[in-house]
Amino acid sequence: MKVFIVGIGLIGGSFAIDIKAAFNEAEIYGVDQSEEHLDNALSLGLIDHKSNFEGLDLADVVIVAIPVDATVEVLSDILNKVKDDCLVFDVGSTKKKLCETVMSHPKRRNYLAAHPIAGTEFSGPQAAIANLYRGKTNIICEVEKTAFKLQEKGMEIFSRLGMRIRYMDPVSHDKHIAYVSHLSHISSFMLGKTVIEKEKNERDIFDMAGSGFASTVRLAKSSPAMWAPIFKHNKENVIETLQEYISNLNQFKEFMENDDFDEIYKEMENTNHIKTILKGIS
Ligand code: NAP
Repeated sequence: MKVFIVGIGLIGGSFAIDIKAAFNEAEIYGVDQSEEHLDNALSLGLIDHKSNFEGLDLADVVIVAIPVDATVEVLSDILNKVKDDCLVFDVGSTKKKLCETVMSHPKRRNYLAAHPIAGTEFSGPQAAIANLYRGKTNIICEVEKTAFKLQEKGMEIFSRLGMRIRYMDPVSHDKHIAYVSHLSHISSFMLGKTVIEKEKNERDIFDMAGSGFASTVRLAKSSPAMWAPIFKHNKENVIETLQEYISNLNQFKEFMENDDFDEIYKEMENTNHIKTILKGIS
């Protein structure tokens, strides 16, 4: 099985590691705009061969793991190049624009829209890790638009990698993911910015920063090259979540200004419910 991975960074590289481990017959080909990343991927053993877009006609499976705006640009061309029985799936964090882009493509049935809910704040091939996907959810959109045999091929890969599947339409995917992923990243970036701006002349203050601060700003280490296109693709949903978040922050501030610590206590107590909701998620 010849697997071409377009974008051999954290997500693509982690697929490479697990697919090699799960399929003896898999040969991994890397395609990337960064020659340095391809060289690193080869020396790290993530890929067996360096390749390019012209080589895609050899592929049995193509995994597209580049920023979502770049995926919109290249997805139709990838479908043009692949064999009739090749499965092409992407892993982009937004789904509506991508599904619209290939809606009328003659090879739409070769494409499966996926979003593995797995990752870290690091990027590039050196960030790739084994078992990233084990026990994680993979959201599949518009599965009925993918040829049945190719759905089966995709499910075999996801199942051997230990993923749980959830089906969703692209509009619902983008709406829900704005709350549980995109808003957390903005909140982390802006918390990081607020503290850096305030404390820039007092570097010693960071000695006081404990694990609470570190875990809350962890996502602020994430790559802007990946996140700016996500916010662009999901602009309306992200703005809606921001409005609700800002209004909650303003209300908290009002309670503080009014010395209403009973309300503040209640707000926190009600939000503690998140412990039950998130039980078992690491
Ligand atoms: P990454 O580590 O930065 O890897 C992306 C790789 O693709 C980089 O080597 C990049 O090279 C290359 N690239 C960018 N544009 C390209 C193009 N037009 N043609 C060929 N190669 C290109 O990013 P990632 O975290 O793996 O994210 C990849 C995708 O996974 C994104 O769509 C993201 O939304 C999705 N995703 C990410 C996470 C996460 O937690 N990170 C989770 C789920 C899904 P340069 O560095 O030179 O640009």
